[in-house]
Amino acid sequence: MSEERPAIRARGDQTWQERAACAVAIEVARDPDLFFPGTVADDERIRLAKGICSSCTVRATCLEAALECRDAVGVRGGLTEAERRAVRHSFTLRCDPDRVAAALAGRDVHLTTPERQELIRWAAASNTSIPLLASVLKISEAHVKKLLRRERRSDVDGSAGTSSTGQAARQTAAA
Ligand code: SF4
Repeated sequence: MSEERPAIRARGDQTWQERAACAVAIEVARDPDLFFPGTVADDERIRLAKGICSSCTVRATCLEAALECRDAVGVRGGLTEAERRAVRHSFTLRCDPDRVAAALAGRDVHLTTPERQELIRWAAASNTSIPLLASVLKISEAHVKKLLRRERRSDVDGSAGTSSTGQAARQTAAA
């Protein structure tokens, strides 16, 4: 059974690989290159690898990790290198309030640019501490202050407190 949605993964966390279906499949097939088709079209390997990925329980996490670290080699998460290139842009535009809330709660989450902007929007409308923001965004406190000033100067509609990130952050804090 495939994952419905990848668990929020901390940067560098590779524990999901313990459940990777490919590790066993490569051994069974006795083909170390099963997930690394050659540069020449290698349709049979790709078909087999994709079939294994389709029933892998960590498929979504695997794909997310490959896109996050720009892993350009082989079949990952059911997609070939070319297919991953095609979806990478939309991946970098995602904005998941649960991931932002997890970062605010102290998880080392690899936030996208829109998620970082959402975090600043939320923080500008709340009393989130500057050192915490600096730590989450991995920037200086001076830079955080500058971003907050800019956000507050912008046309804020006052919705940050009820934004999905705000709700997710409150739920995380209450958990
Ligand atoms: S999705 Fe495919 S490449 Fe990723 S861990 Fe599972 S079997 Fe391996």
